[in-house]
Amino acid sequence: MAKGVVLSVVVPVYNEEAVVLESYKRLKKVMDSINEPYEIIFVNDGSRDKTSAIVNEICVMDKNIKFIDFSRNFGHQVAVTAGMDYTEGDAIVVIDADLQDPPEVIPKMLEKWREGYDVVYGKRKERKGETFFKKLTASMFYRFLRKMTDVDIPVDTGDFRLIDRKVCDALKQVNERNRYIRGIISWLGFRQIGVEFTRDKRFAGETKYPLKKMLKFAFDAITSFSYKPLKLASYVGMFMSALSFIYLLVVLYERLFTNRVELQGWASIIAVNLFFNGIVLIILGIIGEYIGRIYDEAKGRPLYVIRQFTNFEDIKKDIRK
Ligand code: UDP
Ligand code: MG
Repeated sequence: MAKGVVLSVVVPVYNEEAVVLESYKRLKKVMDSINEPYEIIFVNDGSRDKTSAIVNEICVMDKNIKFIDFSRNFGHQVAVTAGMDYTEGDAIVVIDADLQDPPEVIPKMLEKWREGYDVVYGKRKERKGETFFKKLTASMFYRFLRKMTDVDIPVDTGDFRLIDRKVCDALKQVNERNRYIRGIISWLGFRQIGVEFTRDKRFAGETKYPLKKMLKFAFDAITSFSYKPLKLASYVGMFMSALSFIYLLVVLYERLFTNRVELQGWASIIAVNLFFNGIVLIILGIIGEYIGRIYDEAKGRPLYVIRQFTNFEDIKKDIRK
């Protein structure tokens, strides 16, 4: 069965016991209707609920389903990466488990792929059932990222997309740790096109992307595609020191040539101090974000650790070194 798989679907799951069965059923229906040999790879990103048990049961019933079980939570982007690493299909679809990305869009993506496109990304026309805060921050973030980078990353697209085998193989050579996959795929190039879809609300359960993870994700995206924040830091630094130098001349002049020496200078000294210290700390923070990521890369640890494979025939070791 393993040979000849045309379509692969990668589904990352993290504490998704409430949705994983339904998502399997809906995916299966769509995939069966396409009439090509397929595989669906679930990647369990260290769930602490019954997700793993449920997927294992599905695997017993259905040999088209494969399962990669991580040793712990490595994060959504890494789970997607691992799934892609072990796919065999000529086209690979990445989809969320919570049915926010409707599987029914997959045939439309396939059509575009057959027309010769290498990447068909889902473009969110509308997002249902998400908080105003999430929609606003997401929309602002995508536009901000576009301004910050030279890579043409389409706005309002997630990881729901179809990629060709060529793109998947190219992606295997990208080993960076703090990954922003949709950006990396844009960076790779190839022939890309979007299909619009309406993002549904989550089928059940709640988001696995709390604010903290969203922030890390945003920092990863910016730091892996741009060093403009560092440039900005040096511009701010230069501008501020130019200003200070001018003021220094004023102070010296007043001290040496006039009698207007400010004796009650406490407030101004404190104000200047706080202001400058604030800026210095922010700039240090920005530098720190980059250094932390350099440190992560330098350690060169494996991207993920797998506890168990299910329904894989031959497991290629050392896909990533
Ligand atoms: N996910 C994951 N690891 C994580 C967080 C999320 O594998 O650490 C999976 C999750 O199970 C889901 C997908 O990533 O299939 C998207 O997560 P979610 O729907 O919670 O994000 P949102 O749609 O709210 O941005
Ligand atoms: Mg979701």
